[in-house]
Amino acid sequence: MVSHFMGRIVAGLCLLTAVACAPLAERSGSSMVGWPSPNFDERRPNFVILHFTSNKSVEPALHTLSSPASGVSSHYLIARDGTTYALVDERKRAWHAGVSYWGGSRDLNSASIGIELDNDGEEPYAEPQIVVLLALLGELKRKYAIPAANFLGHSDVAPRRKGDPGRYFPWQRLAGQGYGLWCEPPYSAQPQSTADDVLLAALGYDVADIDAAIGAFRLHFTPRSETRRLTTEDHALIHCLLEKRRN
Ligand SMILES: [Zn+2]
Repeated sequence: MVSHFMGRIVAGLCLLTAVACAPLAERSGSSMVGWPSPNFDERRPNFVILHFTSNKSVEPALHTLSSPASGVSSHYLIARDGTTYALVDERKRAWHAGVSYWGGSRDLNSASIGIELDNDGEEPYAEPQIVVLLALLGELKRKYAIPAANFLGHSDVAPRRKGDPGRYFPWQRLAGQGYGLWCEPPYSAQPQSTADDVLLAALGYDVADIDAAIGAFRLHFTPRSETRRLTTEDHALIHCLLEKRRN
């Protein structure tokens, strides 16, 4: 219970710190006391989500990502020549992932840094762009201690809706430098038979639409495979990826 004297201090704190104490207290029907603590820092992103713009040049993407009417943005946009545009402060929530899911998280925008790459989805990525991307990923990984497994594509977190950064994205090269997971055959693990949805869900995929989840997995890890269902080799690959994530 707050005494009359304390109540005045609390009211003063509310005024000084612009904490909306009274409306909160009224709404909840209980006492809400503003009591600022110095023990905090900024919230930290724990994922990086990679995108392609699907544009032929950087100008239309810049326009879309900064136009109030579009309702979309990203933290960074990297042009084909490596020029990097910083669009949204890393501490703020950019609108790049939309409806999304990964490993139990349903709001990737709140937990991630979004990076758009100037690429139309039908072409290999430009070398200067990838060099700059790798340097940026290094900075982000160091600054926020982002686990290797949490560098993902938009298609991974929105398999029903999205196909970026697409089949030309150099995931193997990124994983070689610690951004994302990768395994090459032959795989050492000898998996017991496990259902496709159980394995993909263990990686993090939303398996509500299993065909979409398999498609997103293929796009990221086996872009040359045409098989619609997961094969025994795919199962061994997923076990290998899960093992890498554990280590
Ligand atoms: Zn995207």
